[in-house]
Amino acid sequence: MEIPESHSMECEFSTGDFDNDRVPSYKSSAGSGVKASLSSTGSVHELLECPVCTNSMYPPIHQCPNGHTLCLNCKARVQNHCPTCHQELGNIRCLALEKVAESLELPCRHQNLGCSEIHPYYSKLKHEQLCRFRPYNCPYAGSECLVTGDIPMLVAHLKNDHKVDMHDGCTFNHRYVKSNPNEVENATWMLTVFSCYGHYFCLHFEAFLLGMTPVYMAFLRFLGEDSETRQFGYSLEVGSNDRKLTWQGVPRSIRDNHRKVRDSYDGLIIHRNMALFFSGGSRQELKLRVTGRIWKEQ
Ligand SMILES: [Zn+2]
Ligand SMILES: [Zn+2]
Ligand SMILES: [Zn+2]
Ligand SMILES: [Zn+2]
Repeated sequence: MEIPESHSMECEFSTGDFDNDRVPSYKSSAGSGVKASLSSTGSVHELLECPVCTNSMYPPIHQCPNGHTLCLNCKARVQNHCPTCHQELGNIRCLALEKVAESLELPCRHQNLGCSEIHPYYSKLKHEQLCRFRPYNCPYAGSECLVTGDIPMLVAHLKNDHKVDMHDGCTFNHRYVKSNPNEVENATWMLTVFSCYGHYFCLHFEAFLLGMTPVYMAFLRFLGEDSETRQFGYSLEVGSNDRKLTWQGVPRSIRDNHRKVRDSYDGLIIHRNMALFFSGGSRQELKLRVTGRIWKEQ
């Protein structure tokens, strides 16, 4: 019987073929020599990729009697037969590969975006999910936009693809208008982006139901990390006829999506009845003037 190509653990770890693009850099700490020699190959990375789903494998890594490896998720799905050679899988752990993975130290996958951190294989994923260099999601709230990138790229994307209003300066004055506001229970207005203090902020305005009450909410998000937001403060004001509602807050990072900010009520919330009162006239049209200011904390 012919045995198909085997990825058995004993023979497949060639550590010699350097792939220059993927050679990780190392911290200069003493004693990393052993790890360095193991992790300098592209083929080890490939071995640690599940051949079925192509995700990185984590213990317990399983293998068939012929040595084909697969991840735990895939093992649960293939009804006890190796997807590569169709042999019965059984319950064979691939401890050698698990140990090799443990010895690897790899650069963060956001290295090309500026991260210089190096992490052990098993904790790399955790770091990457929180890495401050990971791309941001597009902050546009009107549709499910899947574009990701760094801040300059997203600012260009908002301008070119979403046609958002861009403003320079740290004060603003915006009018939100809607006819037949009583028929609207969920709406997102066009984002406005402000550029000041060398950073970007976006102003959101949304209509939704707070419990049973229709409300409008305005809030500011910061195009940057959560840790940077505390340098800034902002205020929002809405009103007419010598009445006004004001809000003072700290912009939220765009790491928090607009829905999360909305659900935490972290902004100026205006009940529809009051919004229509501020709009004046017949209650058939929403005409709300929102003014605001962004400042830098000392
Ligand atoms: Zn898999
Ligand atoms: Zn197999
Ligand atoms: Zn990183
Ligand atoms: Zn977008």
